[in-house]
Parts: sequence; C-alpha cells; structure tokens
Amino acid sequence: MHFIGRPCQVRPHVFWYNSGMKIKDLLARARPSVSFEIFPPRKDAPFAPVKEAVERLARQKPSFMSVTYGASGNASANTAEVASLVQQCGVCALAHLTCLTSSRERIADEIRALKAANIENVLCLRGDAPKDAAEPPPGCFAHAVDLVRALQGSGFCLGGACYPECHPECAHMEDDIAHLREKVEAGLDFVTTQMFFDNNVFFRYLSKLRDRGVTVPVIAGIMPVTNGRQIERICKISGTYLPSRFKAIVDRYGDNPSAMLDAGVVYASEQIVDLFANGVNAVHVYTMNRPEVAERIMANLRSIVGD
Ligand code: FAD
Repeated sequence: MHFIGRPCQVRPHVFWYNSGMKIKDLLARARPSVSFEIFPPRKDAPFAPVKEAVERLARQKPSFMSVTYGASGNASANTAEVASLVQQCGVCALAHLTCLTSSRERIADEIRALKAANIENVLCLRGDAPKDAAEPPPGCFAHAVDLVRALQGSGFCLGGACYPECHPECAHMEDDIAHLREKVEAGLDFVTTQMFFDNNVFFRYLSKLRDRGVTVPVIAGIMPVTNGRQIERICKISGTYLPSRFKAIVDRYGDNPSAMLDAGVVYASEQIVDLFANGVNAVHVYTMNRPEVAERIMANLRSIVGD
C-alpha cells in the first residue's frame, strides 16, 4: 500500500466532504451530480501522476470518483489503494470490481481490502476476457449478476454497468435489458451507462428501462473526446453511434490535439447541459486521468451544478 497514511495534498479549505457516503444517498439529493472516473497506474508505472490527478479532480468537488479495475491493462491491485486516496481527499469513492477472470478467493481478498479502506461503494462488473486468455479460473462468476448476488447484503452500495446502444455481445436490446433487470433485482442501487454521443440515444434507452421496470437511478456516462482518431476506432468496435455533428468535429480537428481538446470539452459540456435541462440528475465523466479536461468542463457548469 503506497498511500495509506500519507496525507492528501488538497488544502483543507478546498476539502470536499462526502467521503464515506453511499452513492444512492448522494443521488437522492436535489443537487445535480457530476462524478469522475480515474484509472490506477499501469503495472510498474509511478503513482505520483495518478495521485496528482486525484488531488486536482477532488478540488472540482465531484459527487464521487470511480476507480477502474484492471481496465486497459491497468493494475487491478491498485484499485483499493487509489480509492482510499480519493477518500483521503474528502471525496466519496466508487471502486470497480470485475469477476470474469478472478477466482472467488481473489474477489474475497479485494472485498477485504475495500472494507479495510472504508470504501462504501462497489461497481459490480463482469469485465472482459483478455484475447490471449487461458481458461477462466474454475468456479469464477460468468456474469456481473453473480457478483451482485455475492455482494448483496454485504453492506456496500452496489452499482452496475448498462449499455444505451446494447452490449456488443448481446444480439437484442430487449435481452440486454432483461439481463440488466435481473442484475438490478439482484441488488443494484444504481447503474452507469457506457458512453454515448447522442443524447437522444440515452433518452430513448431511459424510457425503455422505465417501461421494463428498471427503476434505479441511471447515471449518464459522458466521454469528453480529446483524441478524435482513437475514439473513431473505439466507436467502430463498440457500435457507438457517432452523430454527424460529432463526425464533422473529428474530421476537422482530429489531427490538431489542442483544437480537438477545445472542441471535445465544448461537445461534452453541451451534452451535460442538455441532459440536466431535460431532467437527468447525474452524469459520470470519463475523465481518463486528465484533470484539465474535468476542470474546463466544470468551469462551464459551475452555476448549473452549484458549489
Ligand atoms: P454483464 O452484466 O455480465 O453483461 C455482459 C453480457 O452478458 C451482456 O451482453 C449481457 O446482456 C449478457 N448477460 C448478462 N447476464 C446474463 C445472463 N444471466 N445470461 C446470459 N447473458 C447474460 N471493464 C473493466 O475491465 N474494468 C472496469 O473498471 C470497467 N468499468 C466499466 C464501467 C462502466 C460504467 C462500463 C459501462 C463498463 C466498464 N467496464 C470495465 C467494461 C465491462 O467490463 C464490459 O463492458 C463487459 O463486457 C461487460 O461487463 P458487464 O458488467 O456489463 O457484464
């Protein structure tokens, strides 16, 4: 553990104060919720840049900060540690946890580490098998719902993932929503969406979820695009719809990093304002360890979100 016992450098007067809360209680507040995502350092990479990013993000007073688990080759071993750092900065932490490639013993170890760090919130995920994967450990959980069932009654506030454009492995949206409903009925308190770039996609999905009896809060996942070419590739693989307005931005500014950053911040800010204006009360910004992006978006939202 690198951070436990090391004080966070955020100055006391900018300390936020929701550390240790349950996200379901934060979402029940009238104040619009803006939260951020951070990923732990890659294996053998230094902690200092992640620590600095956490401290800068904390100054933006997010409702909570989520810490990924093993995504994009990042070390899952550091999730509890980075989540603990988030809480030392006074911000409520959400620890991601995947189950597909972990033995039950490994999951039990992670849970113990999260409890020891006083983490109250867990995002229950299946994860993806690595391309070169050997067989998953025997007896491991095949779907996120199995992890939710295992954690139900553990005292954690539980979240899960959902997909406004359908999970890529599921042939039909109706089946995907039925699986989501099963996951929610197993004990989820809220769900967070995959990124989307057309708010109408989200509004249609939300209406379908409510019609199908999924009643928990749905947090809208917003990805500020700062690397246009990369996002085009990701969207092709995941089947995410790119509106023509968005495509025009990438075509025009995709090869100019600072112009793409400006345009990506404006696009994400407009998406968030439109969501809030239409009654959505919670957005999760995939900040990708770039606090400067979060700072610029929050500057655009200050009087909308409030202090
Ligand atoms: P599940 O809910 O298990 O669904 C996966 C697929 O199985 C879907 O097609 C679903 O329809 C189907 N399914 C579900 N239940 C059943 C059932 N009972 N029978 C048959 N089919 C079923 N990945 C990481 O590695 N680390 C992270 O930190 C991370 N964070 C994420 C955060 C968010 C907000 C999101 C949206 C995704 C995140 N991911 C992360 C990616 C995620 O792990 C992948 O999208 C993964 O492919 C699916 O995970 P899930 O939890 O949605 O799985």
